Amino acid sequence: MIKKKSAGMEFDLPNQECNEDVHCPFHGELSLHGRTFTGVVIKKDTHKTVSVEWPRIHFISKFERYAKRRSRIKAHNPNCIDAQIGDKVTIVETRPISKTKKFVVVKINK
Ligand SMILES: [Zn+2]
Repeated sequence: MIKKKSAGMEFDLPNQECNEDVHCPFHGELSLHGRTFTGVVIKKDTHKTVSVEWPRIHFISKFERYAKRRSRIKAHNPNCIDAQIGDKVTIVETRPISKTKKFVVVKINK
């Protein structure tokens, strides 16, 4: 199986093709480096962008207890991956794609 290799990261090549998407890590020129997160797609727009959210725990020292917080990040969703709302996805950091987008979806976790 052909895989995308970049900075110690390996991901399976998607089955579908995306035509002329320069921001695709598999068919375009985008290189992957930095942090990796997994979360759930909660929002999707027409500019190939998804919002990914996941829970985290935050320690509050005054009460010596943990509180639940949520992290929400915008990520590029190339046509060859095409994540839908409710999908569990893996996102990887990359160069800034737009003002608020610097992550890309690389995998849908089944
Ligand atoms: Zn692609």
